[in-house]
Amino acid sequence: MVSDSFEVGIVGAGVAGSCCAQVLGKEGIKAAIFDHSHPREKPCGGLIDDRVVDEFDVPEELLEREVKWILAERFRFCVKLLIEPSGFIVSRETFDYHLLQRALNNRSVTFFDEKVNQVTKGENDWILRTSKGRSVKVSILIGADGCPSLVRKNVFKPIPSEFLATTVGYNFPCSNKYIERAFAKNAIEAYYSHKYVPKGGFIWIFPKRTSINVGIGSLGTGKKLKQSLDKFISLHPAGKRLKLLEGHFFAHLVPTIWKKDFFDLPCSGRNWALIGDAAGHVFPIGGMGIYYAMKGGRLCGSAVLDGDLHLFERYWQKEYGDELYYGAENVLKYYGNLGFFYWLVALFKNFRAR
Ligand SMILES: Cc1cc2nc3c(=O)[nH]c(=O)nc-3n(C[C@H](O)[C@H](O)[C@H](O)COP(=O)(O)OP(=O)(O)OC[C@H]3O[C@@H](n4cnc5c(N)ncnc54)[C@H](O)[C@@H]3O)c2cc1C
Repeated sequence: MVSDSFEVGIVGAGVAGSCCAQVLGKEGIKAAIFDHSHPREKPCGGLIDDRVVDEFDVPEELLEREVKWILAERFRFCVKLLIEPSGFIVSRETFDYHLLQRALNNRSVTFFDEKVNQVTKGENDWILRTSKGRSVKVSILIGADGCPSLVRKNVFKPIPSEFLATTVGYNFPCSNKYIERAFAKNAIEAYYSHKYVPKGGFIWIFPKRTSINVGIGSLGTGKKLKQSLDKFISLHPAGKRLKLLEGHFFAHLVPTIWKKDFFDLPCSGRNWALIGDAAGHVFPIGGMGIYYAMKGGRLCGSAVLDGDLHLFERYWQKEYGDELYYGAENVLKYYGNLGFFYWLVALFKNFRAR
């Protein structure tokens, strides 16, 4: 039995889903947004660039740390790279909660604290069945359910596993005093050593306000990655600051697209769209996806309002398509054998920019 009907159903209330719901809610579109996980700290470094702050009006209290520098190490060669303009670190628990509340301030948006377990295609609509036994009919279905995406599997096909990088890591809760003592001010750290990172990728250490997020991401397999990260923490001098802390382990996938043809695949159809990680919209070099998820969410909402979901393709390609194509074309060079060369070029460009 269908319990309710909505114009739009959004599966996933992460940054992509909430930003899409905000746009629809402002125009009074009857939308349902489903997510079983809130409040939650999504496994994520939480690094955002200045565009997120400027374009999405992020309140200052959510910005846990200003990031002016990246301390990067490659082949035991350490550099301090200037980030200009500054980036910021957020907690995904408070950041995502804030975005969801903004969406729910609009009365036409309804939140279901439920997991969507099943998606069935009708002639002109979709039926969503949830973990609480609810059946909801929606005319338009939006997959904002991250990676791997149930919606993507039903409306199109999954992201091929070769484009999914495994990330594993730890969140170390600790006092702000300790962070200020043990870490350089306004800096985050990245380690590209092949000794610790088995197959193209890096280890990051991102101090937040009262926790330290440490992880490793690569196209290698999960089990080996955990061993590599543990080895880094116990042997590398940078790991000394973490050894005495107790961390909560996490593992998660992140789309890492290394063939640009992937981005020619459709992200929308007549009555469906995919946004954020479900669409594969993550910058392939480094794995930053928050901005693209938020921007994509907004653009997808605009396409719904403009009455043609196919427009979403045009909108995202225009706004950030070049960046994703560039990343896909260059990511293997950046992490591969000639990576050191590309890294030096990047350093040089950075130096000139300064
Ligand atoms: C370890 C790690 C570190 C990262 N660090 C950074 C970083 O520092 N900066 C950056 O910009 N990006 C980073 N990223 C990428 C970034 O986290 C993602 O690109 C971004 O969160 C994508 O947002 P989203 O809304 O598409 O998906 P998500 O944030 O993953 O949200 C998806 C939501 O959908 C919900 N969901 C899933 N399935 C269902 C279902 N069946 N029913 C209902 N709800 C469902 C989930 O509970 C979740 O809340 C990192 C990723 C990882 C894995």
